[in-house]
Amino acid sequence: MDKFIIRRKCDNVASVSDDGARPSVSGAVRDNKNIDSDGTVAVTKNTVPRKKSCYQPSWKQQFTWIDYNKVKDVIFCKNCRHMFEENRFQFSHKIKKPFMETGFSNWKKGVEKLKAHEASGCHREAVLKFKSLKSNVNVFSQISKEKLTQMKENRACLLKIISSLRYLAAQGLAIRGHTEETSNFDNLLRLRCEDNQLLLIWLQRETYKWTSHDVLNEILAILSHEILRKLLEDIKRAKYLAIIADETTDIANKEQFSICIRFVDASLEIEEYFLGLYSIQSTTAKPLFDIIIDILRRFDLPTSNCRGQCFDGPANMAGLYNGVQTNFMEMEKRAMFVHCLAHCFNRTLQDTVKAVPECRSALDVMKGLIHFVIDSPKRLDLFTHMEIDASTNLKLLCATRWAVRFLAMSSVLSNYTEVKEFFLNVSRNDKSATGAKANGFLINMHTYDFFFVY
Ligand SMILES: [Zn+2]
Repeated sequence: MDKFIIRRKCDNVASVSDDGARPSVSGAVRDNKNIDSDGTVAVTKNTVPRKKSCYQPSWKQQFTWIDYNKVKDVIFCKNCRHMFEENRFQFSHKIKKPFMETGFSNWKKGVEKLKAHEASGCHREAVLKFKSLKSNVNVFSQISKEKLTQMKENRACLLKIISSLRYLAAQGLAIRGHTEETSNFDNLLRLRCEDNQLLLIWLQRETYKWTSHDVLNEILAILSHEILRKLLEDIKRAKYLAIIADETTDIANKEQFSICIRFVDASLEIEEYFLGLYSIQSTTAKPLFDIIIDILRRFDLPTSNCRGQCFDGPANMAGLYNGVQTNFMEMEKRAMFVHCLAHCFNRTLQDTVKAVPECRSALDVMKGLIHFVIDSPKRLDLFTHMEIDASTNLKLLCATRWAVRFLAMSSVLSNYTEVKEFFLNVSRNDKSATGAKANGFLINMHTYDFFFVY
């Protein structure tokens, strides 16, 4: 374009050149040479002398990192500029700011300056990091081979720590002990050191061993999240689900709320996945309902896909007017409530036995008899040395699950002769209250009720 003209009113003279620069028109106005009759001034390329750019497009072939700004007529380094904006420079202390912030325009000895920038530390760091960002490779490993070897060794040791922790968690073993030296985790690592020199060196380090409580807790959390993610994949694939929830008090006297999800998989098998125990402050219906909804939301399981809910019988869970099941039904009508069948069965057995006095007393005697043997190490030792089949040793009566009490009762019946002999021995040899108690059990075992009710 040879003749480039912009017409503006004289009192508002301004024009823009084709590369965006604003050339001065004051000379033209002063000389009044190009002013038209309508008061506009013709600004031509010929009238406004423009500063000629010294940038050579051929430089871009030699220096591929050049990013030329035509408007400002300056050069940036695209690598350095990106790293500078992201604040990623770590090693270079002399940062060449013109190439990344203001733009380089010192054309005198331009090529030499560009070469100098290319050889500079900050440019090399920027190029390495830019490459590593694209290829997802750690920049340290590119800097030195020694560092790469060290990284591989560290990684191997960290994997040993993770696998040890995973083993303890999967086996349900305690990770810590009364002291660090007696903890299962430390002892397991020391054991593994016998076959692994690398791990031994790692554990002899002063710092950065990745074995602190915080790190172990974090690894455990990552492992548990990974398992949960896998379980949730199966649940989401099945789409429709039912919730099984129950609350109980743990050994530390804290209320815990357990959540399970029941669903049918693609091969029509029924699956029940345990999703975790959640500490609760209150056991009234509203907070429990809120927790269930919160958990479903966290796991991205829509309540609209819920087709069943299964709890035990208390009013806070199963209540018709204000129970968790009623609250849930108001939200999703298709989520049918089922009173836990195992719980129903348990209650039925309990109530049936209570209604028959012979059964009730027989169970009480049985409970006392088993505890008499098991609770004392001395008596248990005496009992186990009476040539009894180990598989039919005495079993405790389960306090809550009545359906499994059969096992305890059959363990006494199958050892009936030995149990009688044991009580006879104790009653004869022990002259204290224990002997009298043993004699009481012995008399009971000879009664009609004991033998026939069992
Ligand atoms: Zn650069």
